[in-house]
Amino acid sequence: MDADAPPPPRPPTRPLGPCPVCRRRPPDATFRPFCSARCRQVDLGRWLSEDYAIPAKPEDDDQD
Ligand SMILES: [Zn+2]
Repeated sequence: MDADAPPPPRPPTRPLGPCPVCRRRPPDATFRPFCSARCRQVDLGRWLSEDYAIPAKPEDDDQD
């Protein structure tokens, strides 16, 4: 039996997938996980628009 089992080897750094915005180009080291500053801005814009999409008052319960 192997009582002193060594810890599993750390998996190698997983290569990032393609740019999550355009999914056509590999990410750039400067803008990863995006391929460019533009795609990074696009992603940021999505987050902001999602945030703004949330209404301040989810329910206008104005019952009498
Ligand atoms: Zn991109």
